[in-house]
Amino acid sequence: MSRTKPRIVVVGAGIAGSLIVSGLRDRTDCEVVCLERAGAADHAEAGTGLNIGPNAMACLDLHLPREAAAIRAASLPWNRWTVALTSGEVLMDLPLARVADTPGIRIRWAELYALLRRPIAPFVTYGAEVTECVMAAGDRAVRYRDRTTGESREIRDIDLLVAGDGRYSLVRQAVLGGPEVPHMLDVCLYRILFPAGPVCPIDDYGQWFNGPNRLLAFRVPGDLVYCAGSFPIPPGAATPDHMKRPEALAARYRPAGRPPSREAAYLIDAVVRNVDAIHWARLQEGCVTFSGTPGVLLMGDAAHPMVPTLGQGATQACEDACVAVDEIAAALSAGQPLDRVPAWVEERRAERARFVVSLSRDATDTMLAGADPVAGTALKATPAFQGRLSRLYRDIPERRSVGRARDVDSVE
Ligand SMILES: Cc1cc2nc3c(=O)[nH]c(=O)nc-3n(C[C@H](O)[C@H](O)[C@H](O)COP(=O)(O)OP(=O)(O)OC[C@H]3O[C@@H](n4cnc5c(N)ncnc54)[C@H](O)[C@@H]3O)c2cc1C
Repeated sequence: MSRTKPRIVVVGAGIAGSLIVSGLRDRTDCEVVCLERAGAADHAEAGTGLNIGPNAMACLDLHLPREAAAIRAASLPWNRWTVALTSGEVLMDLPLARVADTPGIRIRWAELYALLRRPIAPFVTYGAEVTECVMAAGDRAVRYRDRTTGESREIRDIDLLVAGDGRYSLVRQAVLGGPEVPHMLDVCLYRILFPAGPVCPIDDYGQWFNGPNRLLAFRVPGDLVYCAGSFPIPPGAATPDHMKRPEALAARYRPAGRPPSREAAYLIDAVVRNVDAIHWARLQEGCVTFSGTPGVLLMGDAAHPMVPTLGQGATQACEDACVAVDEIAAALSAGQPLDRVPAWVEERRAERARFVVSLSRDATDTMLAGADPVAGTALKATPAFQGRLSRLYRDIPERRSVGRARDVDSVE
């Protein structure tokens, strides 16, 4: 290749993609291009919120402090995790400080995407849907469709292709050699965001169970409440339409023979009122893979699709981005080829990602058909489970010393 600067192409300006571009935006020793399918003003997830774990915030503080500060400024702190029955009985009240060194955050999706994308605008082509990738050594390329004009375009001579294109990643499919059959957990998960109103009893992160049917809610900035409801569905099936009706949803959360608690009554009412605005999803996960072919790096959901039970999907995308920027910066500073970066990231990330995927699956036990939330939550209050939570929230990726050359033969 005759270019003097290595070319990095990032597919997707979601959480992982935006953070990687942001972490590289001041460098003058590489060319960075980000292709994003959505239009500059589109926000597919605008109607929802999310919590980001303490581990992402501690990791961003260490690796990307500018981005950490921007996220904190637009969010509320996540300090507490409570679990109760919809009848009001409290099952767990965990101050996060017991298992973490810094609070997590609560934020609106639209706000998070906007604040991550704002500073990287010069690097992003919006309305650019990647349709094909070529991954041969010496001829790495992507083809994309300009969604405004319908034209097909191409970028060739890519030194590092980064997949930040999320759960249905086209790049992941190309790496794995075809579409993957995800592992479905037979649980429907839906999300809404609505104005808190004058008598809102919801504040920090809480969960309310009636059998395995769960309401999760917390406030986000803008005086809004984010609520994610879930319930088991028939094995192997899509969520049947009759289960999505307002009266069916409400009946799932009403405790038998007792009135719902103030919080549960408020949320049930909100679900019924906002039923037309619900985003429906199903719990699913896939295998962990960050690389698989030189010069192609998978990140975030493209690397480790996981169930969102512990709010670790976007959280792990933040950790991934920190390590990717760390490795890319080290390779650039040492004048090393970027096609080894995916293997180095895999070496640092794979074990942790597998731990988080498996902990998230284990924590889903109380949401499965037939589960007993009282017994299941009692397990989450044990030192054994909280030890795993402490590892989750505290065991964040360290920084490599920038410029320290990797032994290029050390990882195959
Ligand atoms: C119901 C539910 C609740 C969740 N709650 C939480 C939570 O509270 N906390 C948490 O941490 N995680 C949560 N998650 C998980 C979280 O949404 C994801 O893990 C996270 O968004 C992954 O980030 P990403 O950067 O990998 O992908 P995304 O943020 O999904 O970004 C992918 C980007 O790639 C773009 N793109 C896709 N295909 C193409 C293409 N072909 N060409 C160009 N661009 C493309 C998309 O438009 C998008 O901008 C939840 C998930 C679900 C389903």
